[in-house]
Amino acid sequence: MPRSAAGKPAESPCAFDSRGRPARLRYNSQFMSELLEGKTALILGVANRWSLAWAIAQAYRRHGARIILTYQGERLRLTVEELAAELGADTVLACDVTRDEELDALVARLKEAGTRLDAVVHSIAFANREDLARPFLETSRAGYLLAQDVSAYSLVAVARAAAPLMSEGGSILTLTYLGSSRVVPNYNVMGVAKAALEAAVRYLASDLGPSNIRVNAISAGPVKTASARGIKDFSKVLDGVSQHAPLRRNTDPAEVGDAAVFLASSLGRGVTGNILFVDSGFQIMGL
Ligand code: NAD
Repeated sequence: MPRSAAGKPAESPCAFDSRGRPARLRYNSQFMSELLEGKTALILGVANRWSLAWAIAQAYRRHGARIILTYQGERLRLTVEELAAELGADTVLACDVTRDEELDALVARLKEAGTRLDAVVHSIAFANREDLARPFLETSRAGYLLAQDVSAYSLVAVARAAAPLMSEGGSILTLTYLGSSRVVPNYNVMGVAKAALEAAVRYLASDLGPSNIRVNAISAGPVKTASARGIKDFSKVLDGVSQHAPLRRNTDPAEVGDAAVFLASSLGRGVTGNILFVDSGFQIMGL
């Protein structure tokens, strides 16, 4: 029986009315289920409560998963520890994905504790602020390599490190954006990194499929997060989406969390190598 946030039995989001007809579809973002019961998820990329990784962590938890969070550097440790306590997450571990030794230490800690992973979320990206403001043509070699290392290669490194812990298969998920395949003003070097990330999703899905590990990306619509604030004129992107997307509104991070639950659960068992758009439909529009 689904449970509400208060632990009481919740009305199903697709209940039937008194005559046995499907009731109007209602959805409560506090809806809980046991879709991820018994599963353990490692979530990389929580920086604060605006992070998409935080929305995913909350959704996974609501649907029964055990959560392990990581943080990038001491600066973020306290915030992530506080969020983890609020969520009832099991463990908080350090992991800067550009440092192989931190990835190795993370895996060693999980192995030591006898942790089996069922889901991994990679919600990480970084580029120099100046590369998100000046023409793409001006991108330096160092800025290009940095964006690729943190935002694309790190998925490969994380997948390679985590796969041996996913002994019963599972789901690896990353976050991408439309700027991978369309020109979005000021997204620049990050768009090229996202293109590489999406290609990496497909190659990893092919390599890991025989181990029943699925690899997918959610292409989220723009959301005001710390990373997004680094993109010049980001508020214009938000305005454009709310005016032109089929749903005429911006993406709610909880919608990303819910799609992530689908992909991590057995409902998504046949889906791999996919880019799932959770963007109010914006990507289908021509003009
Ligand atoms: P965020 O700033 O909350 O999250 C970015 C995370 O990346 C932070 O937790 C940061 O600590 C982490 N990170 C950066 N460098 C790292 C490193 N070397 N090692 C470990 N962690 C590192 O912003 P967000 O918007 O939640 O971004 C999460 C993901 O979602 C990113 O991949 C981003 O590109 C993607 N995304 C965001 C949007 C949006 O509009 N916000 C839209 C689509 C996709």
